[in-house]
Amino acid sequence: MVMFNFTYQYTNSLLLDNHGRKINYLRLAVTDRCNLRCFYCMPEHGLNWLSRADLMSYEEMLRGCSLLVKMGIEKIRITGGEPFVRKDIMQLLTALSDLDGLKELSITTNGVLTAPHVMDLKRIGIRSVNLSLDTLDAARFFAITRRDEFPDVMQTLEQLLKHDIEVKINTVVMAGQNTRDIIPLVQLTKEMPVSVRFIEEMPFNGDGHSHSGIVWDYVRIFEEIRQHFPTIEKIVDPLYSTAYNYHVPGHTGDVGIIAAYSRTFCGTCNRIRITPQGTLKNCLYDDGVLNIRDLIRSGLDDAELKDVLLAAFNSREKDGWAAEHKRLANPHFHESMATIGG
Ligand code: SAM
Repeated sequence: MVMFNFTYQYTNSLLLDNHGRKINYLRLAVTDRCNLRCFYCMPEHGLNWLSRADLMSYEEMLRGCSLLVKMGIEKIRITGGEPFVRKDIMQLLTALSDLDGLKELSITTNGVLTAPHVMDLKRIGIRSVNLSLDTLDAARFFAITRRDEFPDVMQTLEQLLKHDIEVKINTVVMAGQNTRDIIPLVQLTKEMPVSVRFIEEMPFNGDGHSHSGIVWDYVRIFEEIRQHFPTIEKIVDPLYSTAYNYHVPGHTGDVGIIAAYSRTFCGTCNRIRITPQGTLKNCLYDDGVLNIRDLIRSGLDDAELKDVLLAAFNSREKDGWAAEHKRLANPHFHESMATIGG
C-alpha cells in the first residue's frame, strides 16, 4: 500500500518561460517498461530497464507534481513506457486526481491492460485517454508491436467509448509498414466519436540508429487523406494543439496530423516532461535539464526546489531544432520514446 503523507496549500500561478510561452502541461512517464515492442520505439529484447531504486517513487512523483501544479501546471498526462505495467498505478492516478488546482489528468496507453481499469479511470475523473494504435489489422499489429495483443486493445477502445471517455487514437505513420492503414483509420471516424491523429515518426527508436529524415511527413499524410476524402475540411485547432485538425463532413469523429518530426508547433509549446528516472525535459528533443528525483532525494525543501525549476524554465530553447542542435554534441538518438516521456 502506498502512503502519501504530505499536504500542500494551493495557490494559482502563471508559469512563463524565457520566450514568454505559458507552461501549463506536464507529461510524466511513470515507467520505462512496456508490454509491447513496437519496432520504431524499442528493440525486440527491450531496453536496459531502470532498477526500482532509479525509478521515481510515487511519493516523489506526487511531491514534484504538487509543487508544479502550485507553480502553474494545469494538466498532467501520465505516460511511459506503458503506465499500466507499473504496479499500483491506480493509486498514483487517484492521488493525482485529488490535487488542488489540477484541471485535467489524462493518460496515454497502448490499451493492452487498460480495459479492466476504465471504470476506475472514469470514477476518478479522467475524461480523455490517448490510445496508441498503428493499424486496424491484427497481423500488421503483430508485425509492428511484436506482440499478439490486438483484441485487448480493441476491447479497451470499446470500453472507453462505452464509458464516454474522449478517445484520441495516436498512429505513427511509417513508410512500408502501415501507410495502407491511414484510410481505414480515417474511416473509423465515420461512426466512432474518436479523434484519429497521425504522427510523423521521430528518431527515438532505442536501437542506436538515427534516421535522417522521413518520407511520410505531415504534408504527404494529408495529401493521402485528401485524395480519398476530398471534402475533408480544416477545423479550428484547440489552444496549444500539436495537431492540425480536420473533419470529414458526415463523420462523427475528427482527424489530426501531428508534425512531430517537422516540429511546426514549437512556437506555442506549453509542455514539459519528466522521465521515469526524474529527468526534467524542457523539450522532447533536449538532453534533460535537471533531475528532480535527485533534487528531492538531496533534501531540498519546496522553496529551493521551486527556484531550481524556475531557473530551468527560464532557459528553454526556442524550438526543437535548437534543442536537438545543442544535444548533437552528445547524441542520444539511441533513446527510446519509452525513456523520455513520449
Ligand atoms: N505505452 C503508452 C502508449 O503506447 O501510448 C505510452 C508511451 S508511448 C512511448 C507514447 C507514444 O509514443 C505512442 O503513441 C507511440 O506510438 C509513440 N512513439 C514511440 N516511438 C515513437 C517514434 N519513434 N516516433 C513517433 N512516435 C513514437
